[in-house]
Amino acid sequence: MTELIHNPAEIDFERPGKHHYQVAFHLDGTWGYSLVPLTVINGLRGPNANGIICFGGTHGNEYEGQLAVKRLCADLDPAQMSGRVILMPQLSESACIANSRTSPLDGVNMNRAFPGNARGTISYRISNFVKTRVFPHGRVVIDLHSGGKEGAFPICTSFHPIPDKAQQSETARVARLFDPPIILIYASTMASGLLTDEAEAEGKITVGSELGGGETTDREGVRTGYEGLLNVMKHYGLLDGDIVRLRPDGPEPRLVRADQLHYYVPCPRDGVWEPVVDRGEWVDKDQLIGRLHDFSDHASAPYEIRARRPGWIAMMHLSARPVKGQTLYVVADEVPWTEVL
Ligand SMILES: [Zn+2]
Repeated sequence: MTELIHNPAEIDFERPGKHHYQVAFHLDGTWGYSLVPLTVINGLRGPNANGIICFGGTHGNEYEGQLAVKRLCADLDPAQMSGRVILMPQLSESACIANSRTSPLDGVNMNRAFPGNARGTISYRISNFVKTRVFPHGRVVIDLHSGGKEGAFPICTSFHPIPDKAQQSETARVARLFDPPIILIYASTMASGLLTDEAEAEGKITVGSELGGGETTDREGVRTGYEGLLNVMKHYGLLDGDIVRLRPDGPEPRLVRADQLHYYVPCPRDGVWEPVVDRGEWVDKDQLIGRLHDFSDHASAPYEIRARRPGWIAMMHLSARPVKGQTLYVVADEVPWTEVL
């Protein structure tokens, strides 16, 4: 049964067992609500200091995280668990309904809305709820994304450069539990107001991910999110059982770093994009990455996009029609694991 909550202060995060809620955030322009799904599970085997908070649907048109977190809402059995897990499968519920990155109610990108505002528009009030009511009940925060409509990544988990060495090494270990092909250390300077920014700044162990792209459902992406979250629960002792390697025959995840803005290369002009390398591939300096075609003159030579530096392709534009200024590709450096562990 799902309880309807009008006053978020009424949610009892300590209540034993599994409880499903719809948290009602009133609309700004009319009578009605965005009903944001929330499941709180307190294991019946006793307390655990490492509460885990999992988000999907921070961006509405990214589905692997929504599915992985929703499946956990159904599958986790409090009788088999210790500690607390908080699951929010569709954080920007209005964006999820609309199959949109941002909320159609206020045009706000939930992943730029932190720390939120109790008197702001609906997205800011939801992020403020997360910051003030949800974050205090967990130490580990996982936010599952999928690239979105334009950008595409190799399946990866991610975190920012973290000055505190103990926090960074524990974060890197949690990122590895998803056993993705790539783990990306990404630039804090590219954007602000991220859910993960806020959780990191509070000292929490915070991991993001990119599990697909293009408003599709990537099977490997859902499996990575779902099994990875179970691995995190096992790692911290909330669940019994061995850590599962998702790709037992594959190599260890490759750790790469794109922590400088100049690693994120903008599209220099409009055009039809023809990539000639794949995401996750190695490129040498000056290697051809793709071509931009101008069909206003079909006899014109394409504009060649060549790598400015050697490295691993950590992200590439997905749609065929990038717009001047959008990030076209990211080339990242490989980092030895000993640097972060
Ligand atoms: Zn996203």
